[in-house]
Amino acid sequence: MVIMAVPPSSLTYQPVLKRIAEEIEHTPGRGRPADYIPALAARDPRAFGMAVAELDGTVYGVGDWREPFSTQSITKVFTLALDLAREGDELWEHVGREPSGNPFNSLVQLEHENGIPRNPFINAGALVVTDRLQTRTGDAAGELLALLRAESGNPDLDFDEEVAASETAHGDRNAALAHFMASYGNIDNPVPALLDQYFRQCSIAASCADLALAATFLARHGIRADGTRLLSRSQAKQVNAIMLTCGTYDAAGDFAYRVGLPGKSGVGGGIIAVVPGRCALCVWSPGLDERGNSVAGVAALDRFTTLTGLSVF
Ligand code: GLU
Repeated sequence: MVIMAVPPSSLTYQPVLKRIAEEIEHTPGRGRPADYIPALAARDPRAFGMAVAELDGTVYGVGDWREPFSTQSITKVFTLALDLAREGDELWEHVGREPSGNPFNSLVQLEHENGIPRNPFINAGALVVTDRLQTRTGDAAGELLALLRAESGNPDLDFDEEVAASETAHGDRNAALAHFMASYGNIDNPVPALLDQYFRQCSIAASCADLALAATFLARHGIRADGTRLLSRSQAKQVNAIMLTCGTYDAAGDFAYRVGLPGKSGVGGGIIAVVPGRCALCVWSPGLDERGNSVAGVAALDRFTTLTGLSVF
């Protein structure tokens, strides 16, 4: 149950967003765009956009909120939801739900834990989820794209083939993770086919408006934009809980402390966040801190929950 500090009728988001954008504009130090995927390195670290989507699909935004960016690991939330909807709790025999305490692409823990990744939001865990969704659907990335298009109401969302190719060309670490888990019997599909699905999923370009809308099913406790149910209320709670504890790399504790919302970041500089029962947010600024989270993105969400009192705590 969310404690609402501000009654719905008295809160208008636009002035809050405007104030946050002005504060961010005057904040020095924006971090650096990810350069381990060369196609991401060229983005301007001073770009900034933020959007809030209400449960009925009304969206508010500021700055570059309609500018598409590389969604990267944000997509892990949606593939998790798609797979959980299909296979339910059996998934948890193949991937855990604990924070990893290690970088998102670490190999170290996997050997100690017999090829079972700590959670679905580190790369190893996301590879397992994509593998399982691929087995069930034959086109995991296509299912994901269809979900994002439907929930955002934007039929133009698509894969960015340049980013996918760039990741494939620099994908040795993810290939190592997938092969290593395959050696433990925790991957069903041929590794090259799985990597193709995974890189395509990470490459999808979308804006803050698109992603805030797409994440709103988690604020609606599992109900999609068309009124049908994707997840049970309990599963939506579970996904939100894993976002809170594991969604922002090895800085989830600090994110919970500062922002107080379930969130998921990506190395493209985007972060989605959910206020259950109320709204979903997306913020984007490409400059990252040393743990891989958008510097201005975390600061903006921190200011949002501070100014509005909207938090799960
Ligand atoms: N495609 C990126 C990778 O696999 C995703 C990383 C991220 O956004 O956390 O390295």
